Amino acid sequence: MAYVISDECIACGACAAECPVGAITEGDGKFVINADECLDCGACASACPVEAPKAE
Ligand code: SF4
Ligand code: SF4
Repeated sequence: MAYVISDECIACGACAAECPVGAITEGDGKFVINADECLDCGACASACPVEAPKAE
């Protein structure tokens, strides 16, 4: 289980600042979550202004 960032992402970076394990990095036009590092904590979803991170 991991969170995944949808195409709604506006690349603001708020989620990356909140992730406790640094699993979120800037990708091509949006931010991406490393599924191997994600703890499924939901902090990124809470921080996101457009609800782009979704629980898979
Ligand atoms: Fe990081 Fe938690 Fe979001 Fe996973 S769910 S990417 S651990 S903030
Ligand atoms: Fe994208 Fe939301 Fe993260 Fe901002 S907080 S970079 S909009 S997923």
